[in-house]
Amino acid sequence: MKKIVIIGGGFGGVYTARHLEKLFRVDPSVEITLINKTNYFLFTPLLHEVATGSLSARSVSEGLHQVFRNTDVNFLQAEVTQVDREAKKVYTSVGIREYDYLVVATGAETNFFGLENNGVLKLKTLADAKGIRDHVVDSLEKVAHEEDKKEIEKLMTFVVVGAGPTGIEFATELTEFVRDAISGRYSMCKKKAENVRVILVHSGGSILKQFSKYTQGYASCILKKKNIELRLNTKVVEMGKEGVVFLGGEKMPAHTVVWTAGVRAVPPGFLPEVAISKEGRVLVEDTLQLMGDENVFVLGDTAGQEVSAPMLAQVAVAQAKVVANNLYLKTQGKKLSIFTFKSRGMFISLGRWRAAGDIGKFNIQGPFAWWMWRTIYLFKFISWRKRVRIMFEWTYDMFSARDVTEV
Ligand SMILES: Cc1cc2nc3c(=O)[nH]c(=O)nc-3n(C[C@H](O)[C@H](O)[C@H](O)COP(=O)(O)OP(=O)(O)OC[C@H]3O[C@@H](n4cnc5c(N)ncnc54)[C@H](O)[C@@H]3O)c2cc1C
Repeated sequence: MKKIVIIGGGFGGVYTARHLEKLFRVDPSVEITLINKTNYFLFTPLLHEVATGSLSARSVSEGLHQVFRNTDVNFLQAEVTQVDREAKKVYTSVGIREYDYLVVATGAETNFFGLENNGVLKLKTLADAKGIRDHVVDSLEKVAHEEDKKEIEKLMTFVVVGAGPTGIEFATELTEFVRDAISGRYSMCKKKAENVRVILVHSGGSILKQFSKYTQGYASCILKKKNIELRLNTKVVEMGKEGVVFLGGEKMPAHTVVWTAGVRAVPPGFLPEVAISKEGRVLVEDTLQLMGDENVFVLGDTAGQEVSAPMLAQVAVAQAKVVANNLYLKTQGKKLSIFTFKSRGMFISLGRWRAAGDIGKFNIQGPFAWWMWRTIYLFKFISWRKRVRIMFEWTYDMFSARDVTEV
């Protein structure tokens, strides 16, 4: 019996397990186990919609027991604490698992670039997204009874740090969420909250470097239209629950500060003595095998090479196919294949009815791009149950005000 253990139930881990299941279906000599901290798979590209009330938390998460029901994949909810590569054992919070082959896809963590985060909000996990939404709703509730002008200004100032794709998608949705809420459910604050400010701070001189000039220009134009204050070449040196301080000493009081300035791969603490790439990712061969250990595969945000692929879901999904195939080839004693990354195009949403995307040499924008963006993401969900649920929530959201209940 060959035992394959996969650590991480995100894009890399879940797609590896799904491919392996197909390759080894009804092969009793192979046992596949997937271990993840939570018992759900999180669809991060739509997390900003949970943070701004368009989608519910349940919509962007798929239960892993459900995903692997009626398959030969065993799912275990546990945290991996240590891997003994000599003994080929995985130590978890609920016991020990032995392996012949190990797959590691434990993702990345928020990168604060050495700044103290002092309790500012971030957008990485489901709990983060729910926390942001509740915090924004709470600010609106406070404005309703606040009389002090300065305090009202602070409550109505929203600072988003980081104008990458996540920061921009979030800032555009946040603007719509707050303004819609004020004109609808919080109409009593209309006068007090005339000056809602969404400030998008970016340390670089331009936005969306990974996109074409065309998409960059379109995104800047939408930010302007939505009155989002884009502050380029601006570095945050201090932040907290009272606002931010910029390099040079300027203070920006704000009740809401959300950090979306990046993620970094951290070599998993449970996997000691591994070579690290210059970005801090675990170094792998072109076959995605761990340098110096042919029985361990690493992929997704965790894996690095001399020239690493970007930290994207589409990279993790493409690597998952290579890892699964290579595991299959390995059990057959055949030569492994190598991973090369080819972008399949990129989209960015810019609030309701607006998106932009680069597909090969083509650039699209506006409502059609928005429809395409939504359709593509819809079909990236694993189950039809979730697709139908999201379709329903999106349709409902188009014709109704966003939910501002604090539940
Ligand atoms: C807000 C946001 C928006 C994004 N938008 C996009 C987008 O639009 N398009 C795109 O291509 N990419 C996007 N990304 C990036 C994308 O989410 C990642 O590149 C992708 O998830 C990487 O897949 P992964 O399998 O490496 O890690 P993840 O999907 O993060 O999965 C890692 C899993 O490992 C588990 N884990 C970690 N440590 C342990 C442990 N010790 N024991 C057990 N389990 C553990 C975690 O719980 C998690 O489930 C976005 C990311 C964020 C945060």
